[in-house]
Amino acid sequence: MDNDTLKIGGDGAAGGFSSSGQAIMFERLLASRRDLSAVSARELHEGTCWGDAVYLVDALSLGMGVHPFREVEDICVRHDNGDVPVYMHRGTRFLAPDDLVLIQNMNRDVKVRHLPDPLEVPSRVDLGDRLELTGEEIAHPEGGYLSVAETFDLELRALVVWRRDRRSRLDLRVVAGHSTTGFAAERLAEHALRFSPGAAASPRKRYRERDVQRDRVYRFEARLDAVSGYSHMPFDSTEACAEYLASVYADGRIARMPAVGKTRSDSEHSHFSLRHGIRLSVYGHERWTVLHEAAHDIAGRIAPQEAGHGPAFVGVLVALLETYAGVRPEHVEQALAERPVKIDQTVRGKILGRFSAPEASPASEFAP
Ligand SMILES: [Zn+2]
Repeated sequence: MDNDTLKIGGDGAAGGFSSSGQAIMFERLLASRRDLSAVSARELHEGTCWGDAVYLVDALSLGMGVHPFREVEDICVRHDNGDVPVYMHRGTRFLAPDDLVLIQNMNRDVKVRHLPDPLEVPSRVDLGDRLELTGEEIAHPEGGYLSVAETFDLELRALVVWRRDRRSRLDLRVVAGHSTTGFAAERLAEHALRFSPGAAASPRKRYRERDVQRDRVYRFEARLDAVSGYSHMPFDSTEACAEYLASVYADGRIARMPAVGKTRSDSEHSHFSLRHGIRLSVYGHERWTVLHEAAHDIAGRIAPQEAGHGPAFVGVLVALLETYAGVRPEHVEQALAERPVKIDQTVRGKILGRFSAPEASPASEFAP
């Protein structure tokens, strides 16, 4: 769950919600506004869709139940290395090609421009005569500095680079590549939030890993939430979430519960990583989200080769929801029939068995 923008999925529906509650709220909202059509930022940029007004949907506001539409004033004719810049009332927003935009009274039109794929950027660079720092630099919250480096390359005019201290000129980490130095400068703060200098993987890596089932899983969860009549169980603090999770891990006799903390900012979605454990946003202090993130931890131990929302993940998630959230097998069947996802039934059975007959499986089985 990488940012606060909603995505258009493979079959045209919106996805990328940080919780099933958000997805449900979005479905209701669209149903109540028949004048609005959901299209991708790519279609907007290419000019194939146009209408009376264009809105972005703010996922955070959606989660809080406040009005989530932000009107776009104008779209930029330039792209930013494959991203779509749009002018808002306050400043520029940069959309990924599959981010969601809503068009009022939409018309289809002919393509007026082409949005290219992003260019590959090097993972590390040295400063030198063809690469010079320019403009302001900002301190990264975890240490070091982010700056814009001008490349003199016509297509990729600027790189955002991170360096541990102000004197280093060699082997700088590249965070992103941009079409103009202006775009790069505008996006420095955004990169500072997403980039972690401590991460072992290169910053490009997360774009390469294909988590093909992710949006499908969110839609499946939204459906399962609805058909099971799930009763929400909010917690009033991160500590309360951790206590709840501890009881789940103890119950399943699962060793090494991940740390539970807060996300760095309110706009970050709840997520799980090996490095930081479970990070919950203020909207993620709820049983379903806690179980979803726990399923990432457990599935990662059982099937480390699978992408984040692969079949093993769904198997674990469903088993946890059946055990702790009042979801019944027939609800799972129905949601699977209406919003199909790949599920590893062996993993599901194994996890269910663990909670109903804990003596059959020792805790060490789940140790990484
Ligand atoms: Zn997830």
